[in-house]
Amino acid sequence: MSKLTDIMNRRMAFSFELFPPKTDEGLKKLIGDGGVLDRLAELYPDYISVTYGAGGGNIGANLEVLKAIGAKKQGVVPVTHFTCIGGTKDDIRQKLQNYLDNGINHILALRGDLPFGWTGTGGDLHYATELVAFIRKEFGDKFTIAVAGSPEGHISCRSIEADISFLKQKQDNGADYIMTQLCWDMDQFRWWIDAIRAAGITLPIDVGIMPVLDAKATINMALSRNGCVLPRKLAEIISKNWIFPDPFVSDPYDADVAGKKASFKEAGIEYTIGLIDEYRASGIDGIHLYALNKYDDVARIIKESGLIDRV
Ligand code: FAD
Repeated sequence: MSKLTDIMNRRMAFSFELFPPKTDEGLKKLIGDGGVLDRLAELYPDYISVTYGAGGGNIGANLEVLKAIGAKKQGVVPVTHFTCIGGTKDDIRQKLQNYLDNGINHILALRGDLPFGWTGTGGDLHYATELVAFIRKEFGDKFTIAVAGSPEGHISCRSIEADISFLKQKQDNGADYIMTQLCWDMDQFRWWIDAIRAAGITLPIDVGIMPVLDAKATINMALSRNGCVLPRKLAEIISKNWIFPDPFVSDPYDADVAGKKASFKEAGIEYTIGLIDEYRASGIDGIHLYALNKYDDVARIIKESGLIDRV
């Protein structure tokens, strides 16, 4: 199986991100015959990653989806997300070994956030820096390790400079490449690239992009956890297609809900393609598209942006 860093050293990579569905029906739609995964694999992504519920309580079908990805004839690399928060070293060691036993040797090493209602301790490892060091100590070079990078600074960092210094520590501890948090602010992104390179971080940068398809999801992703800047252009798309009284209510009184959803999506896809262009022009090493377990809109973005023709 290809090592992703070898690919990124040669050319720009492109990949998708999936989440493990919570129901059998959702799982069948994703990994069943002719399902979303089969169709996404036909776009020949270099890898597909699968999210992981922090604290370990909501992992669901993570491994099942990863194994289905690894079985694709197109040679797509399965990458698991993995969080250390709340876990003991023994527990983490055993889970990582289980991934290796199942042929999964690419991992996004994350701290994670304790789930609501968590009553346990914070666990043995407190930051992703420690998880990276732990993986290298216990498993040597068996894993290719990605780590999170936040171009706008992680929401709880004490300063962006501190955040960058911890990213450097992840590199020093043995990380192989960076997967970024979403960032719509290109000026900030270009500043961050210069800043991390000046700090001695040389790792390849794989940029996370959430397709702009739905107002509620876009606002949620920006503001519920990440504190992302919404550029004027994106704010305009949200405002012009605002569903009254607001996009979060289940029974809007707006007369044109369907029309506004459709025109939001159209403008959002165009916006997403423009963003991909800007990222590619800024010299990054990979585009990682949150596929949100969907095919049609994602395939359209991949085709119209030209990512499909990357080699
Ligand atoms: P860290 O790198 O540990 O950083 C957390 C905070 O602590 C930062 O503010 C940092 O500045 C600070 N810090 C870091 N190291 C130190 C140190 N040594 N000493 C003091 N302070 C330090 N979450 C999930 O639950 N499941 C997922 O599947 C998932 N996928 C993700 C995918 C991507 C690409 C990204 C960017 C995030 C993902 N997350 C996921 C969210 C992630 O778990 C949260 O953002 C979490 O709050 C931080 O994880 P981290 O690995 O960035 O933490």
